[in-house]
Amino acid sequence: MSLTPVDEALELLLTDAKPTASVVLCKLKHARQRVLAENICSSINVPPSDNSAMDGYAVRSSDLRADKHAALPIAQRVQTGQKAAPLAPATAARIFTGATIPAGADAVVMQENCTTVAGRVKISEVPAVGQNIRRQGQDIAAGSAVLSAGTRLRAQELGLLASLGIADVQIFAPLKVAVLSTGDELAEPGTQAGPEQLYNSNRYTLLGLLSGLGCEVIDAGIVADDLDDTQATLSAAAEHADCVISSGGVSVGEADYIKPAIEALGELRFWKLAMKPGKPLAYGHITHTPFFGLPGNPAAVFATFCIIVRPYLLRLQGVTEDIQPLRFAVAANFDWQRAGSRQEYLRGRIAYTEAGQASVAIFANQSSGVLSSACWANCFVVLAPGQTVQRDDYVTVIPFEGLLS
Ligand code: AMP
Ligand code: MG
Repeated sequence: MSLTPVDEALELLLTDAKPTASVVLCKLKHARQRVLAENICSSINVPPSDNSAMDGYAVRSSDLRADKHAALPIAQRVQTGQKAAPLAPATAARIFTGATIPAGADAVVMQENCTTVAGRVKISEVPAVGQNIRRQGQDIAAGSAVLSAGTRLRAQELGLLASLGIADVQIFAPLKVAVLSTGDELAEPGTQAGPEQLYNSNRYTLLGLLSGLGCEVIDAGIVADDLDDTQATLSAAAEHADCVISSGGVSVGEADYIKPAIEALGELRFWKLAMKPGKPLAYGHITHTPFFGLPGNPAAVFATFCIIVRPYLLRLQGVTEDIQPLRFAVAANFDWQRAGSRQEYLRGRIAYTEAGQASVAIFANQSSGVLSSACWANCFVVLAPGQTVQRDDYVTVIPFEGLLS
């Protein structure tokens, strides 16, 4: 079987991902990372009326154009949350940041440019019309479309929804993802592992990655290297999950049972990716439940989840845009002469010189078994098949920041 290029696999996956249809009402305070299942239109203006951007005095600018040295009587004091009376000609209103502009006033002069004497204010400038006034609806106009279904809610969207007076939103129900680890050699952290055993780190990496995405994780435990056991565990996991993810057992060794198990339970779409780390990778369905068989090596689990599984899960969760993480070019602080035949995701670390110049270095040991590489790193350096790098060449990076939530 030939290797499937990463972009081709991603395209296939994203067209294949059937967004969840299950919608629930969610309190806004619990809605961070959830995906909106409704279009939001504003019924109000934000801000609701013209208001002051400064502590100062609200005036009719024409009064000051007519007489630069006028000392205007201070007719009222407008605090935030208070109703303002109309401003009579040739008077000023003491006003505070966020307070409603009195009808008739068309500018606010900051208090630093004013002096007060005996109930009057002398203003040392002629303000422009509209100066220091925040217009009604300048953030959101009543009747306008604000957020559309498929938007993933970040802190700023929660604030925006709150500014419309919204306390509950319709969201797509969080995905339930079952995780299982294959391997006779695995021991759980907290138990005593023998010298021929290895602690199950993949389960924790996947738990962290999935909870970062807002998924509910179903722990399907450790599965022995045995076809019947693998098949039974996969099929039980698929019953209650929106997606099943396994690690290990996906190569073509004698103790690798993921491929035959999926072939028996459903269908296998591909299982060899032109990606490093992460060549052995299965995607398919257990009956109707999507399934990913990730490699066993810990750094490969991290990379394949971030690059392949994450966009798929976001689509499954109902996200309509921003599926792909931010990527950009940074100067390389390393040489790379070993052109590979697969797309490489080197674990890299962006650092800045004192002058603020960014460059990216790579972890010395890029073995897919070395998870420390991902802990040291803060980004992937993406190298296309055949690409070599000389120090100071620009290389593409994907910051982990954009992948872990
Ligand atoms: P496999 O693909 O099952 O042959 O696994 C490849 C390598 O990854 C082997 O060295 C395994 O011991 C290791 N490995 C598999 N599963 C895990 C796991 N859950 N945690 C840590 N290492 C693992
Ligand atoms: Mg194994």
